Amino acid sequence: MESKNLWVYIETDEGRAKNVGFELLNPGRRMADKLGEKLVAVVLGKGIAEAAKTAIACGADQVITVDSEDFATYNSDIHTCAMVQLIEKYRPAIVLYGATNNGRDVGPRVACALKTGLTADCTGLDIDENGLLASTRPAFGGNLMATISCPNTKPQMSTVRPGVFKKPVLDEGRTGEIITEMVNIPAAQVRVHLLERVREVAEAVDLEGAEVIVSGGRGLKSAENFALVRDLAKAMGGVVGASRAAVDAGWIPHAHQVGQTGKTVAPKIYVAVGISGAIQHLAGMSGSDTIIAINKDPDAPIFSVADYGIVGDAFEVVPALIAAMEAHKK
Ligand SMILES: Cc1cc2nc3c(=O)[nH]c(=O)nc-3n(C[C@H](O)[C@H](O)[C@H](O)COP(=O)(O)OP(=O)(O)OC[C@H]3O[C@@H](n4cnc5c(N)ncnc54)[C@H](O)[C@@H]3O)c2cc1C
Repeated sequence: MESKNLWVYIETDEGRAKNVGFELLNPGRRMADKLGEKLVAVVLGKGIAEAAKTAIACGADQVITVDSEDFATYNSDIHTCAMVQLIEKYRPAIVLYGATNNGRDVGPRVACALKTGLTADCTGLDIDENGLLASTRPAFGGNLMATISCPNTKPQMSTVRPGVFKKPVLDEGRTGEIITEMVNIPAAQVRVHLLERVREVAEAVDLEGAEVIVSGGRGLKSAENFALVRDLAKAMGGVVGASRAAVDAGWIPHAHQVGQTGKTVAPKIYVAVGISGAIQHLAGMSGSDTIIAINKDPDAPIFSVADYGIVGDAFEVVPALIAAMEAHKK
């Protein structure tokens, strides 16, 4: 049977879909049109009718749902087994997953079970001249971008980080087909059992969904000085981000890190304070709409991607900006 159609795996948790699945319907739509095939969203979960409707509003032609208590929370074995069964039944040409913790778990497991390839952590997706998925990702520590294809086995699979693509604008008038599937999960294949669910108590940071991010780097010199970044973020109604140097120094938790080994963000405004603009940092934020850089070195690479650059000492510039904003509010 010939492989066709492009699938996007929509991850859910207790019925709620993660944004990244919808984001992937954006390049998914473009690529499915290029191939002249259907864009199919696959939603496994419990109480997922809303997620299925949203997938259609985001551009899916078809949604395959498996709605069962077994899928209410993520389970490596159950989700892998279900995806393998569905893929064997429908034979999609391409499957895309969000590079979340669970997406990074299920994608490679499915690839391994089906003896096909998977390109992890892609930052770009396209269809090449041979009709193959061309997945682009940073390689060699981010020093070059590699475009990888999987010509000999199907499906071709990739994981993509949250925030790399923008969620499509919802078109509530769109219609599509919803297929309700049942899967049979043999008990012997389920080696992982959820004993207890512990909610993360760490500070929740929604960098991917933020419209304004103010990030600080090594230029801030200490954990105490990082307060300056928090104050500016507060004044701008934004969220605090950081370079890896600031995270490695222990000034701020890793959940705030932006870049290749942190989060990929695309806010309306990204302010980089005391960040040099290493390629690994740029990999995570260059998709921002407007980038403002504050750095005392006029040759800092961050200025090459900045829309507005302030060459100056952050310890003078940031308090002045906050004071100006406070004055404006009055
Ligand atoms: C495999 C790999 C993955 C990586 N992943 C990431 C990642 O996800 N995210 C990430 O950020 N990095 C990542 N890095 C690290 C990256 O290469 C850089 O080392 C890091 O981004 C540097 O952080 P920084 O810009 O804060 O520090 P620096 O490069 O030291 O820059 C500090 C900047 O502050 C400026 N400055 C100093 N004092 C002031 C002042 N008073 N006022 C204003 N400006 C001042 C300086 O001019 C300088 O430009 C990765 C590296 C590797 C090898």
